[in-house]
Amino acid sequence: MQSYKLEREIPVDREYDLVVAGGGPGGAAAAICAARLGIRVLLLEAMGCLGGMGTSGLVCVFDPIADGVRTLVGGFMLELIGALHDRGFMPESITPDHWLYGYHNWTPFHPEGLKLLLDEYTQAAGVEVRFFTRVIDADADPKTGRVRGVIAHNIEGYRYIPAKTFVDATGDAVLADLCGAQCREAGRDTDKIMPGTLCSIFAGIDWDRVDIVRDDPDAIHYNIGIPGPADKVEEAIREGYFTQPDRQGPYMHIMGGTLGSANAGHIYNLNALNCKSLTDGMMLGRKMAQEYKRFYKDKVPGFEAAEHVCTASLMGVRESRRIVGEYELTIDDYMARRQFPDQIGLFNKFVDIHAYSNSEEEYRAFCERNARLRLGRGECHGIPYGILVPRGWENLWVAGRCNSSDVLVHGSIRVMPAAAMMGQAVGTAAVQSIRTGQPACDLDTAQLVESLRQAGAYLPQNELSREMTRSK
Ligand SMILES: Cc1cc2nc3c(=O)[nH]c(=O)nc-3n(C[C@H](O)[C@H](O)[C@H](O)COP(=O)(O)OP(=O)(O)OC[C@H]3O[C@@H](n4cnc5c(N)ncnc54)[C@H](O)[C@@H]3O)c2cc1C
Repeated sequence: MQSYKLEREIPVDREYDLVVAGGGPGGAAAAICAARLGIRVLLLEAMGCLGGMGTSGLVCVFDPIADGVRTLVGGFMLELIGALHDRGFMPESITPDHWLYGYHNWTPFHPEGLKLLLDEYTQAAGVEVRFFTRVIDADADPKTGRVRGVIAHNIEGYRYIPAKTFVDATGDAVLADLCGAQCREAGRDTDKIMPGTLCSIFAGIDWDRVDIVRDDPDAIHYNIGIPGPADKVEEAIREGYFTQPDRQGPYMHIMGGTLGSANAGHIYNLNALNCKSLTDGMMLGRKMAQEYKRFYKDKVPGFEAAEHVCTASLMGVRESRRIVGEYELTIDDYMARRQFPDQIGLFNKFVDIHAYSNSEEEYRAFCERNARLRLGRGECHGIPYGILVPRGWENLWVAGRCNSSDVLVHGSIRVMPAAAMMGQAVGTAAVQSIRTGQPACDLDTAQLVESLRQAGAYLPQNELSREMTRSK
């Protein structure tokens, strides 16, 4: 491809203490928690609302935050779930015990509630938010590991925004990559990419007539919705309902009243770092949503009068680019239920790697992984601080899906409650770094853990360490 050199003078904004790129569960938590601690925060979000996949992506259900015995996820995320419930943005059937103590309990919510609460929280904390603003470049020096500023674009044109610290919560490690931090890309550094899904909202469902499996400890999602009944899916595949026969899923969750949110259909080989692939995926996703509408209406009792309301405006991306961090969390750590002195969160979710294609063989591999790579009741693994710091960087962190973990354990911690814990941790770390001069890559993690505990995080490790856990 030919290149074109662009030179232009662009306005320079005032300096912020912290700039957060991306306002999903990771970025919103980072910005709000940092601003609550008293620093000046700017949150840049490409869409017109906060919440990321939870709102613009119509993924309207939080993964489990408990291990069946204890509530593992505290702090900001716990506050948010409680507020969604108290403000009436959850189905009436969901009570606090469901998320506080359940094992494999997913918690549904209405995306408008999440948008509204995050608006209110950012306003109350004094976070400056800019919607429809995309981070497009960075002024950074990989040799010193320092970022000086980001270049953002919105309706007002380009802006150079200097800051003391930066958080990349774009899901795709956009900012870390622009800075020149070392990253791994699915499909480039691995041989496969987990498929994406374009999620949807349905209305007109008679949930009283839907056969929901409840109180089955081994069931996943079932107590808040239904997987497409396997026999009906097989039947529909035989009858040619689907452009792309797919045995895994679909899932339909209660969103409230007659509403349901659908996580239906897989877009295989979707490369979220390639614009054509993303565009083709959106078009295929919209086509598939109509096929699933027909499937539910024709085949599943309770859906006869259902209507398809809309598909999401953000593609549901499960895997794209993630950083090479000071630590890489591995499946061995997960299976060992490893605890770390510098852990900033605990998690119990199973390793959720969707089938890489719609072949029988891949479907069997998915079922086998699902059964084998999971933690039992009362079990959990730690999420150490070092997976949030691009290796060698002094004032740059990541939160959420672009964390440093291997493919398998990433399948567990890529989800919203884990992203929010990471966000709270890096927002708090940025404040500590500004106030003490400690760089991200050499932060006193004992001090960080104490601050997170004070803010409600559940971090029961007895031993703390000033030094983070690092990969060799
Ligand atoms: C189909 C599907 C189903 C899922 N199901 C569940 C589930 O049931 N429960 C669960 O908890 N999790 C689920 N997940 C996972 C979860 O939704 C995401 O992994 C999680 O939201 C990641 O959070 P994040 O903050 O890292 O990124 P995101 O939620 O992706 O947010 C990133 C934000 O950054 C913005 N952004 C991106 N680039 C830029 C830029 N250059 N400048 C400014 N802004 C930018 C985006 O617009 C977006 O708002 C699912 C994911 C998928 C794809």
